[in-house]
Amino acid sequence: MNNLLDTPIEYLKGVGPQRGDLLRKELNIHRYGDLINLYPNRYIDRTRYYKINELQNSNSEVQIVGKVIHIKTVEQKKGKRLVATFVDDTGEMELVWFQGQKWIRESLKINTPYVIFGKTTSFNGLFNMAHPEMELVEEHKASLRSAMQPVYPSTEKLANKGISNKVINKMMQQLFIETHSLFTETLPTYLLEELKLIPKNAALFNIHFPKSQELLAKAQFRLKFEELFFIQLQLITKNLIRKHKIKGHPFEKVGDYFTTFYNSHLPFDLTNAQKKVLKEIRNDLGSNAQMNRLLQGDVGSGKTIVGLMSMLLAIDNGFQACLMAPTEILASQHFVGITELAKELNLNIKLLTGSTKTSDRKIIHEELENGSLHIIIGTHALLEDKVQFKNLGLAIIDEQHRFGVEQRSKLWKKNEVPPHVLVMTATPIPRTLAMSLYGDLDVSVIDELPPGRKPIQTVHRYDNNRLKVWKFLRDEIAKGRQIYIVYPLIQESEKMDYKDLMDGYNGITRDFPLPQYSVSIVHGQMKPSEKDAEMKRFAEGKTNIMVATTVIEVGVNVPNASVMIIESAERFGLSQLHQLRGRVGRGAEQSYCILMSGHKLSNDTKTRIETMCATNDGFEIAEVDLKLRGPGDIMGKQQSGVLNLQIADLVKDKDVLMLARHHAIKLLKDDAAMEKPEHQTLRKVFIELGKKKSIWNYIS
Ligand code: ADP
Ligand code: MG
Repeated sequence: MNNLLDTPIEYLKGVGPQRGDLLRKELNIHRYGDLINLYPNRYIDRTRYYKINELQNSNSEVQIVGKVIHIKTVEQKKGKRLVATFVDDTGEMELVWFQGQKWIRESLKINTPYVIFGKTTSFNGLFNMAHPEMELVEEHKASLRSAMQPVYPSTEKLANKGISNKVINKMMQQLFIETHSLFTETLPTYLLEELKLIPKNAALFNIHFPKSQELLAKAQFRLKFEELFFIQLQLITKNLIRKHKIKGHPFEKVGDYFTTFYNSHLPFDLTNAQKKVLKEIRNDLGSNAQMNRLLQGDVGSGKTIVGLMSMLLAIDNGFQACLMAPTEILASQHFVGITELAKELNLNIKLLTGSTKTSDRKIIHEELENGSLHIIIGTHALLEDKVQFKNLGLAIIDEQHRFGVEQRSKLWKKNEVPPHVLVMTATPIPRTLAMSLYGDLDVSVIDELPPGRKPIQTVHRYDNNRLKVWKFLRDEIAKGRQIYIVYPLIQESEKMDYKDLMDGYNGITRDFPLPQYSVSIVHGQMKPSEKDAEMKRFAEGKTNIMVATTVIEVGVNVPNASVMIIESAERFGLSQLHQLRGRVGRGAEQSYCILMSGHKLSNDTKTRIETMCATNDGFEIAEVDLKLRGPGDIMGKQQSGVLNLQIADLVKDKDVLMLARHHAIKLLKDDAAMEKPEHQTLRKVFIELGKKKSIWNYIS
């Protein structure tokens, strides 16, 4: 049977070399097996037949049984149209064609019962249907085609070359005839029984020729489960193999640095979430396998101290550690913060960025090589070949979405045995995506904020209410608070009527004049040294307002800043808005985020703004973002390949995904090599899928 599915598609009756070529090019269908996996995008319900006198002016498609009694060509200003009079026992209507008139005229049978299908519109009290789908009643009855009519994916080229939906449907029927609808069951019987899944045969049949809504739903569920189940088997197996193969440095002991810090120098009690995550990390580090862990935690959830304590474990075991951040500002903030936290520990901690002086650089290189430098914090300057470690045991990467996978692996190569890797991110990735994409990473989540934080209050204000907003700012400044005002642009862009940063800055300096107020500005076109100086002035409280572009998006920490104004909020994506908001709410005071916008807002924009006002929870926001933008957009093109699922949808089928994952884990726990007799077929399919050049390539 399986061999039959390998038959090149042109051998299918009704296909041939030309159509075969088109199917290959347009739909990537090479063999019988590819066609069977071409699942419909949607279905048209053809369970009901309408009478002509029942027609309504609605936008839905209807099917009617009747006859053509007359056909004529009508001249019009531009070209001609073909008009047929169609009747049933209740009335008459018109069928209209603008294209393919000759062929239709020749092939249409007069006074013969047809089933027609399409959208109707009425004109002068007479209903008409343009380019109806037509089928002789005889054919209609005989066809395998069912009441729920599948609509297959198509392309313009296919449609132009006559491979219509109907033709694909015919091919599918032919395929079922030639293969006698015998398809190998891929899932073990006990799973089918436990989950009440219909057999593969029945599922494939009903996905293409559903007899009812109910059977269709069962077929979809079964096939979605199967697809996600095999992906999970693949991901989890890879992870197990990696752990098995890639040896890491086992950090066997918890030593003095960690213990001293934990007992005497913790500046606050750790939250339960922080403790939980530390435990997970310690388990990884203590094992023989290399750690590859993603640490997700909303802005302000306290990832830094978890990072530091992990580094202390490395140092306790005689290793060095590094922390890499995407920008200079962030790297130096980490440097300052970590130096402060570890000040009693007598550690050698240094900062390396693009602007580190050559003389300092030399010392750092030396100390890294002779092992006297314990912790190096920096930007991608750490990736340069000159930077060599004596024994790097742990690499921490902050805000991973800014670094590519390649860069990550560069860090790896700095040692014979790869260091443990901890990736920290404040951009929560929805669970479904993390589970589907980061099969190679274990995921930890800090899902709790330190106590005593007042949730940031977020409101939406229209531009014409600016005066009131400004008044609010003056009151906050009078209380000693500081303000961020963020703009989406750096320079005026002619065609867009968005507020431009410079205009905004000039307006703000006018409304908040010296000497009473002072305003800072930071944007992408300034030199790093200028930016740093300006940031520093603001951080030290020397200026009241920081006008900025999104350069401050990531990580910047000024606890006294309590208001974040986001101008033209409609131009920002949800995760960006959330990141920006995270710049405030870091101190003890009540903080605010004000989203400014014009009145014209799209539905998506309204959803984004409403979501921001409704919740501070990064994971909730990530879920909405995923729904609005889809997985491909969120993860970037390169990774979106993995999301080219045949039938399942990571957003809509979350529950099926969880179920599939649960059962994949259970199965592998019981029989990791899939060697048991009941897993024989499963194993075969698993291996076949692994060889396939498709989504599997992206999983690594
Ligand atoms: P992020 O996860 O955004 O990197 P940070 O590590 O910068 O968060 O922590 C944010 C702030 O919260 C810092 O000022 C830090 O000192 C403080 N913090 C972290 N953990 C706790 C805790 N358990 N209790 C109180 N404050 C904490
Ligand atoms: Mg941070």
